[in-house]
Amino acid sequence: MIKQFVPQEFCLQCLGCCRFREDNSVWAPCLLDEEIQELIDKDIPPATITADRRIHPVPNPSGEGYFCAFLSAQENKCKIYNFRPFECQLYPFLLNLRGKKVILTVDLNCPYIKKSINDPSFKEYSEQLAKFLNSPAQVKLLRNNPQVLQAYEEVSEIIELDI
Ligand code: SF4
Repeated sequence: MIKQFVPQEFCLQCLGCCRFREDNSVWAPCLLDEEIQELIDKDIPPATITADRRIHPVPNPSGEGYFCAFLSAQENKCKIYNFRPFECQLYPFLLNLRGKKVILTVDLNCPYIKKSINDPSFKEYSEQLAKFLNSPAQVKLLRNNPQVLQAYEEVSEIIELDI
C-alpha cells in the first residue's frame, strides 16, 4: 500500500472523491492487470470492469452524476479499501501522460491539496513518492500497465518520472 498524504479523517469529510460527472470519466480508476484478476478471484461481477479496464461507475440513485461501483455512498467509504486499486492509493497524485512523458501531478480540486500544496510536508511527500515510482519494480509494473497513464486536466505538475 502507498503511504497516504491526505489524512483519512479529512477524506471522510469531503464528498469529492469516487464520484464522477460522466460514466466514461477519465477520473474513474483504471486497474492494473493483477488488480482485475484479484477482483475476479473475489467474485466481483464482470460488469464492474469496463473494456478499457476501468471500474465502471454506476448512476447516483439520488441525484446527478455517477459513483464508483465500490463506494458506499451512505457511509462515504470504499467497500474495498483494504485492497483498493493502485490509482486510488495514489490519489490525489496522478500519473499524467503528456505526449511521451509521464509527469507526476496532483489534483487541484482536492481541498486538502489546496490548503497544503505550499507546505514543506507536501514537497517532502512528493519527493518520496517520485523516488518510489522511479524504483525499478514500480517502473516495470507501470510499463506493463500503460492503461493507468492518462491525460488529466486541472492538475499541478510536480516532476517528470522515468517511466
Ligand atoms: S475503488 Fe474505492 S477508493 Fe477507488 S474510486 Fe472506488 S470507492 Fe473510491
